[in-house]
Amino acid sequence: GIHFLEVKNLRQYFPIKRGVFRRTVGYVRAVDDVSFHIDDQETLGLVGESGCGKTTMGRTILHLLEPTGGEAFFMGEEIGVKLRHDPRDVRQKMQIIFQDPYGSLNPRMTVNEIVGEAVRYYGLCSRKELDDYIAEVLSRCGLLPEHRFRYPHEFSGGQRQRISIARALALKPKFIVCDEPVSALDVSIRSQILNLLKDLQEQLKLTYLFISHDLAVVRHISDRIAVMYLGKIVEMASKVEFFDNPLHPYSHALLSAIPVPDPKRQRQRIILEGDVPSPANPPSGCRFNPRCKHAMEKCRKEEPSLVDVGGGHFVACFLHCR
Ligand code: SF4
Repeated sequence: GIHFLEVKNLRQYFPIKRGVFRRTVGYVRAVDDVSFHIDDQETLGLVGESGCGKTTMGRTILHLLEPTGGEAFFMGEEIGVKLRHDPRDVRQKMQIIFQDPYGSLNPRMTVNEIVGEAVRYYGLCSRKELDDYIAEVLSRCGLLPEHRFRYPHEFSGGQRQRISIARALALKPKFIVCDEPVSALDVSIRSQILNLLKDLQEQLKLTYLFISHDLAVVRHISDRIAVMYLGKIVEMASKVEFFDNPLHPYSHALLSAIPVPDPKRQRQRIILEGDVPSPANPPSGCRFNPRCKHAMEKCRKEEPSLVDVGGGHFVACFLHCR
């Protein structure tokens, strides 16, 4: 069947250039042969340490970065092809919300201009209706109609993120990449923004790819979870399955770092040795092997592929599949 969003063997390699002649001496394999799908009105949480490629993946799916290889399909249509034929439609239906709501909002524009700019460009409503339309979108996002005439610096961090959510929503998207949307915010207002995103998803039937380094945040909002390590997805499962029965040693390490409500079930903290190795020069075999305490001979030679071990629980580790 056709998935709402499907990613097939997606790759994003950045050339590393050296010397006066800027010769390409290698590639940073930020996204390396990744495949998965997202169902309609689902939230897939994509989690991993910084530098694992999750932000690059979000941008590559949307073709804000042209993929080096592989494809992404939106409702059965290949996005790269669709983009050449109908770029406005793609750019309208697939939006992105960034981590830093201040950096992504033009400080010289009022909220009205920020939210209205693209609405006008796409001709989504008439000039006469525009003010009412913007006021309505703002109120959906928990802002007031009079906020239209203010500038970004007059708002708190949480309100600024509401403005960038409103800007995305005003275009009536179907799919939104949420790239660390609460990481820059105070802990006290994170759940407000997460709940807003959840409510909007229900009301407007949205589908999210939710990117975060914080598993506690991902847990709050996701239906399924995918764990990324050095450009690869190493585990993917429904949220319940993932938290009840995590399989990959890297997932164990991530999970051991978050507090759980029942202290008896708190996992012993696993401290990962060393930094994330560079994706320019990933370890051979399983990319996690230098940091894995279960690493076997085979792990240094062969690369495990992502395999369904039952009920849509995927893992790439020789402890669980050959
Ligand atoms: Fe560890 Fe080997 Fe599994 Fe990789 S494949 S996570 S090195 S046990």
